[in-house]
Amino acid sequence: MISCRRTNEHRESDMSGNTDLDKVLGLLEGWRDEMVQVQVELVKRPALGPDNGGAGEWERARYLEQLVRGWGLSVEHLDAPDERVAEGTRPNLVVRLAGDKTSPAVWVMAHMDVVPAGPESEWKTPPFEAVVKDGRIFGRGVEDNQQGLVSSLFALRALKEANVTPPTDVALLLVSDEETGNRYGIEYVLENRPDLVGPSDIVVVPDSGNSDGTMLEVAEKTILWVKFVIEGKQVHASMPQLGLNAHRVSAMLVCRLDEELRKKFSGTDPVFDPPSSTFEPTKREANVDNVNTIPGKEVLFFDCRI
Ligand SMILES: [Zn+2]
Repeated sequence: MISCRRTNEHRESDMSGNTDLDKVLGLLEGWRDEMVQVQVELVKRPALGPDNGGAGEWERARYLEQLVRGWGLSVEHLDAPDERVAEGTRPNLVVRLAGDKTSPAVWVMAHMDVVPAGPESEWKTPPFEAVVKDGRIFGRGVEDNQQGLVSSLFALRALKEANVTPPTDVALLLVSDEETGNRYGIEYVLENRPDLVGPSDIVVVPDSGNSDGTMLEVAEKTILWVKFVIEGKQVHASMPQLGLNAHRVSAMLVCRLDEELRKKFSGTDPVFDPPSSTFEPTKREANVDNVNTIPGKEVLFFDCRI
């Protein structure tokens, strides 16, 4: 239950019996098309980090900043230096609505970057051109993490426009680099502004859940990405005895790791879904071009959640 103070009016309801919550929810319902439009605009600005071959998050950050300032909210920058992008930094934005008290603040953190679209042939609609169809929006990033980002932004706007003063500060933290390690995002922010998020603050991260919003995740596994480089000896496929087939070795390695890691990390905890650790062979780099060459090198990756 949200309890808020409404400037110059009764705490619980106004003359027509509307509570602050009614008012906020009414505003949000009225902004439905506008929210869809913001999603469409965000999809046009891909925000791929340099580790994913992109130009970073600035185009998207500038759009969001202009939008938020237009609503009368202020934006603070905590940009992280990164020479790989044209602007020289990766943007991290704080949008804060003052409450009756500043602490403990309620934070909502969303990330601006997206993952690459993958092969376009696998898409039924263009990945970076949002399509609205059957009550849904299709485009790269609309779910991860734009749904969380857009809904949080409009929630803050609704509190402001309804003249609701929350009991404590409510702040949004819009970060870069969530998809490729957080170094230029939340890690940079926490290292450089240790005062920003207090130990008793509440932090909500709308980046996972179920369709009706009833799931609240309270634990997350530790992630470990491992790259394996297998060096063999490349030879013609008719003379395998002269070489060392890196492909075969990597296949055996994957099977062995799959078995051993499951045995070693066999513990389960129902707080996680799935309850056990996972060790998944994922990416493999292309090896030889032709079918009659034994590859002399294999590069493969594991995604582990422990
Ligand atoms: Zn995400």
